[in-house]
Amino acid sequence: MKSLTKTSQCPKCHEVCHTHHNAYVRKAQDLPILGKTVFLEITTYSYDCPNPVCHVKTVTEDYTHFLSDYFGLI
Ligand SMILES: [Zn+2]
Repeated sequence: MKSLTKTSQCPKCHEVCHTHHNAYVRKAQDLPILGKTVFLEITTYSYDCPNPVCHVKTVTEDYTHFLSDYFGLI
């Protein structure tokens, strides 16, 4: 899985970030199916904050609107 969004917002300065910094795979545990453990593999992008005076250099996508606290990100 991967998100369809192409931007993220810096949590510090609230600038919209467009430039990918990196990508990696995170896992979230889902409900078991037929007794088998199920993981969702999610390609997660990080972005560069474009604000030169911001102390946050890298912004990582979060899934607060998609994954609730019920899911355990690994
Ligand atoms: Zn920023």
